[in-house]
Amino acid sequence: METSRVAPGVRTHEKLDLALIFLGPPGAGKGTQAKEVARLYGVPHLSTGDMLREHVAQGTSLGQRAQPIMARGELVPDSLVLKMIAERIERPDCAGGFVFDGFPRTVAQAQYLGVMLRQHGYRPPVVIHFVIDPQLLLRRITGRRMCKQCGRIYNIFECPTKLEGRCDLDGGELEQRPDDREEIVGPRLQAYERQTAPLVAYYRRLGRLHDVDASKSVEEVKLQILNVIREAR
Ligand code: ADP
Ligand code: AMP
Repeated sequence: METSRVAPGVRTHEKLDLALIFLGPPGAGKGTQAKEVARLYGVPHLSTGDMLREHVAQGTSLGQRAQPIMARGELVPDSLVLKMIAERIERPDCAGGFVFDGFPRTVAQAQYLGVMLRQHGYRPPVVIHFVIDPQLLLRRITGRRMCKQCGRIYNIFECPTKLEGRCDLDGGELEQRPDDREEIVGPRLQAYERQTAPLVAYYRRLGRLHDVDASKSVEEVKLQILNVIREAR
């Protein structure tokens, strides 16, 4: 089977021209892979979690509404998230495709996204489903640290930095997301099971779902995803 023709760190000349959706529970590795795939194809990485955290940091009215909900590990209402996404995919940098990470998270969000994509002339999305043993998630979530400056994702157990607490790329300070504390992990996983997991059946029925084994190494998961993209294009 062909794997990747893309050397590490090099951008591919292939065009994406697709709406990609990375679907899976918190901690499955969506953000890690979405950043890399978006970089390889030169398209935007649209993480609704990152966008909401930015609103919280800037103290916007959306941020003020979202903050207590996110702190409890619950989902922000569909109407707020959909407005944010509708504005974002209108921007010119989205014309060549994009990678959604953490969106959609409810069937209502998926249905509305389908309408938005049709309106913008996109084909139905390609959905990458991160399949993972739930027992791996706690370690991945509680060990996650992010660089305050560049947002690069590390894990104190799985992929630590060379110098403790400092980003390998820019020396930025690492931080832990407040919702990555162990007591918030349970509610987040419950929200996933109740509200987001039904999307697996939803997209499978539409013939858009592609499973990848997300318990493998970062590099192996990336190769599975690149193969799915090549076959789907
Ligand atoms: P998600 O966006 O799905 O919540 P992340 O991409 O932020 O997940 O990854 C969660 C944690 O697991 C991070 O600390 C990351 O460094 C680590 N991680 C991601 N992919 C892998 C992998 N394939 N193997 C081991 N650790 C991983
Ligand atoms: P994430 O960074 O994807 O783990 O998301 C962090 C938090 O942001 C979630 O626990 C939710 O509170 C909120 N959030 C992110 N994306 C969405 C979404 N598509 N719908 C509703 N809430 C979201």
